[in-house]
Parts: sequence; structure tokens; C-alpha cells
Amino acid sequence: ALLASSSLVSAEVLKHSFHSPNPARKILVHFKDLDIKGSIDYGVTAISLGSTDFGGLYSEKPLAVITPAGADDIGQVIKHALHSPTLTVAARGNGHSVNGQAMARLGLVINMKSMADNKKIDVNGNYMYVDVGGGALWGDVLKHCVLNYGLAPKSWTDYLDLTVGGTLSNAGVSGQAFRFGPQTSSVTELEVVTGNGEKMVCSNSQNSELFFSVLGGLGQFGIITRARVLLQPAPDMVRWIRVVYSEFNDFTRDAELLITREETFNYVEGFVFVNSNDSVTGWPSVPLNSNQSFDPTLLPKTAGPVLYYLELTLHYNNHDDPSTVNMMVEKLLGKLKYLEHFKFETNSTYMDFLLRVDNVEEAARGSGIWATPHPWLNMFISKKDIDAFNRIVLENILKNGVNGPILTYPLLSSKWDNRSSVVLPQGEIFYLVALLRFTHENPKESEIKQMVAQNQEVVQTCIKNGFDFKLYFPHYESTVEWKSHFGDQWERFVDRKRQFDPKAILAPGQKIFTRNH
Ligand code: FAD
Repeated sequence: ALLASSSLVSAEVLKHSFHSPNPARKILVHFKDLDIKGSIDYGVTAISLGSTDFGGLYSEKPLAVITPAGADDIGQVIKHALHSPTLTVAARGNGHSVNGQAMARLGLVINMKSMADNKKIDVNGNYMYVDVGGGALWGDVLKHCVLNYGLAPKSWTDYLDLTVGGTLSNAGVSGQAFRFGPQTSSVTELEVVTGNGEKMVCSNSQNSELFFSVLGGLGQFGIITRARVLLQPAPDMVRWIRVVYSEFNDFTRDAELLITREETFNYVEGFVFVNSNDSVTGWPSVPLNSNQSFDPTLLPKTAGPVLYYLELTLHYNNHDDPSTVNMMVEKLLGKLKYLEHFKFETNSTYMDFLLRVDNVEEAARGSGIWATPHPWLNMFISKKDIDAFNRIVLENILKNGVNGPILTYPLLSSKWDNRSSVVLPQGEIFYLVALLRFTHENPKESEIKQMVAQNQEVVQTCIKNGFDFKLYFPHYESTVEWKSHFGDQWERFVDRKRQFDPKAILAPGQKIFTRNH
């Protein structure tokens, strides 16, 4: 009778409920009134998906994983949770968080990537925007917009197997952010299902408090089911350049020059690498092609334990004269103080450049290290402390690298909307620092613990030295720490929570608020 009453629950649910030895029958009692067009899955595979993420450090089992047909299903799920005393709901984008942020212990995980609505990627060429489902992958948005319309979003992440809703809940940054701001800055409208179970459209001028709450809101105020993202004409090609520095001051001076002057590259990022022949973290990681080589004998004698490079691109089109492109590149590189003999260049299609991390993923999957834990640390550090950070952290604590890329490049806070929920260090220029650690295949627990401990050491060093910094993808366990993270924006964050998710149903894996009745 119970099963018959939940007529809209899919056949798949019924399949799992009969075959799961777990408390599936009890769970079905929970969901007998849940009336959705999508499916609810209690099976081992679904639960395993809902309880894992890219970080591989945390695992919290949900009761079930829901594949919604669309926003209305998500509204039903949240309303259902509102009627229970304890249920929580976590949107899971592509699970690329590193600290369990998309998990919901004994709650419901919504598999956003599988939402049917994501297939609709609607480009409006006249007004230069695309409407896209919250669970769509940025890589699919790129391919659809470029191949069918010759258009593309303005601001990206380095890796595109991330969902639109997932990055907009954080910020979404890459080498275009100095010009266009993070991805949250090129969104003009959202459709959101709030923690009250209401589906709402919001923008700068309509339900604006919800709009800005959700952008960078760590999933706390609503689930993004659609985003309107601004587009620009996509170039055919990019000139892709890396120039090396031994002196941090020269590196930061040039990076800041490039991000603040009018005429500049289309993409500016910076990396730190180890002054050694390590294939992952050292000299061999710098050249762009197999026919280029890094000759360490040409490095100055003053070079320290770590070196730096700027990564730059310039857009161009197939019909552009190569000599004009060369001239433009030379002009833009003109005043930079990188080391002679250490300029690496190649040409790439625009799409291949934006999808460049796919090759890294393929290789890492092949060697098994894509699936092992990734204790990553991302932070924003004020320009005023970046020299000291380099001296104390990069050249010292991290002088042997992190067995993966270390990124550091400047961003401009004026390109970020301070009405969004993201918090930044003070001042116009701040640096992103990303420690993208990979473990070895079959890592020992001690290896993972050492990496986590080194992250903690870095954070503690920043605190001890009074550096002005914020964690990006923040992860804290206590309210005191969250309060300190948000600083004078904490009250605003709490007010927003009260308004849009008063029972603290959403994104419990962030561990900011506790579910209440
Ligand atoms: P998830 O990890 O699934 O979710 C993240 C959080 O957002 C969770 O709290 C979840 O509940 C919430 N959430 C998910 N979907 C929604 C939604 N639709 N509405 C509301 N809340 C939602 N970030 C950058 O900024 N720049 C980079 O260059 C970059 N490169 C990366 C490269 C790799 C290889 C990886 C693994 C990550 C990278 N990231 C980068 C981090 C990435 O932005 C975050 O992992 C982000 O969380 C997006 O991942 P996701 O879509 O899988 O979201």
C-alpha cells in the first residue's frame, strides 16, 4: 500500500527499495508523500556517489540521492524536508569540493549534474547571454556556445568539469577574472529554489537580496536551477605564453602591471615551481611543448629554492596576420622583466586552451591519482602580505612543492560585487594562492595526514604573522571560525540565512549552521 501511494516515485526507486538490505523500507516511509517527476535512489552506487568528493578526505552517507527533473522537483524535495524535524538537503554539482561541502549526512543529496533541465542551453545572440541549468557543466556550456554561435562566457575556471551552480556558489576564478571579475560577476539573473522551497527568479533589480546572497553563498540560501551568463564573441585561437622569473618582486610587479593596464593579455595567471628537475613540480613542468626545453644552466646564480612563471594568453582569429599577432605579443611583453631564454610560446585553439586541464585529468586518471585524496588549500591573500607570504611560506614551508601545481596571481577587488556573499581581504589587489596537492597512487594515511598538516601550518603561519587573508572554498568546523571568516559580514550572512533558509536545511556539509525545527 505504501508503495502504491507513492505513484510518482520512479520505477528505479522501487527497484532499489526492494533489493536494498538497508533500512530502505523505513526510508520509503519518509518519502511516501514526495511527489516528484525525477527519481529517488537508495542504491549502493547512488549513496556512494553522494558520500564522496574530489577531496576524498570526508565521507557522509545520505539517506538517498535524488535526480530531479527540474526546479519544481527540487522545490518538492525541500518542502518535504521542511516537514521533517531533521532532514537536510545538499545540492551536489559535480562533487569537486575537497572537504565534504556537497554532502548531507542522513539527508538528501540532489544530483544536479543529472537534472534533465541542464540539457537546455539557450543562447540569446542579440542580448549576448546564455540561460543554462544549474547542474550543467561549464565545458558543455563552452562547446555549445562556441560551436553553434561563436560566442563564449567571459570568465572561467581553469578546469571545466565543474557545474554552473557549484562555481557560482563559490566565485569561479581563473586568468580572466582580473578583467571581468569572477564568474559571479558575469551573471545577470538566476532561478533559485530557496530553503523555504520557493522557486524564485532574481537579479540585480528583482529579488536582489536573494540574488546577491546566492552568489558566492556556499549553497546556504538556495539551489541555483538556472543562471543567465553574459557572453562575448569567442576568438578562434590563443597565443599561449609562459615567462619565468627567479625574483618574486619582478614576478609580482609584472603581474600587477599586466592586470592594471588598459592594453593587456586576455588571460593572466602565475605559478610557483620548484627549482629542481622534478617532473611534476620542477623545471620540466614549465615548457608548453615537447619540443621546448628548460635549461637550468641559464638560470641566474641568485635563484632560490622556488621559481615563478606568468602564464598569459592573447586571443586572435584565423584571419589575423601572424606577424600582427607576433607584434602585439612583443609589445605586451615589452616592459616585462622575465628571465632571458625563459619564454615558452605555443598556439592553441581557444577551446583547447580552455579545456587544457582535460589532458591533466586523463593522465591522472590513467595513473590512478585522480581518484586518490586531494588535500587542496585555496586562499586569497592581501597584496600587502604577499612578499612576506612568499618568504615564509613559498620559499620555506613549501620549498619542495606540493606534488601538484601551486598557483599565485593577483586579482582586483573592484571587479567583485561586494553585495555578493563572498568575503575578500582588504585593498584593491589581492592574490589567489592555490596549493593543488596530489597524493601518490595508493597513498599511505601518513602521506595524506602530512599534507593536511602542512595546510594547517600554512594557515596558522598566516594567522601568526597577522596576514590579511581569506580561505577560498572555506572549510571550518566551528561557528567561531566561520564568524571570523566572515568578519563584519557575518551578521549579513546570518540575516540572509534567516530569510532564505531559516531551518538550515541547505548545504549542511559546509558546517556553518545546524538544522533546526
Ligand atoms: P560541488 O562540489 O558539488 O558543490 C560545491 C558546493 O556548492 C556545495 O556546498 C554544494 O552543496 C553547493 N552547490 C552545488 N551546486 C549547487 C547549486 N546548483 N546551487 C546551490 N548550491 C550548489 N575553482 C575555481 O574558482 N577556479 C578554478 O580554476 C578551479 N579549478 C578546479 C580544478 C579542479 C580539478 C577541481 C577539482 C576544482 C576546481 N575548482 C576551481 C573548484 C570548484 O570551483 C569547486 O569545487 C566548486 O565547488 C565547483 O564544483 P562542483 O560543481 O563539483 O560543486
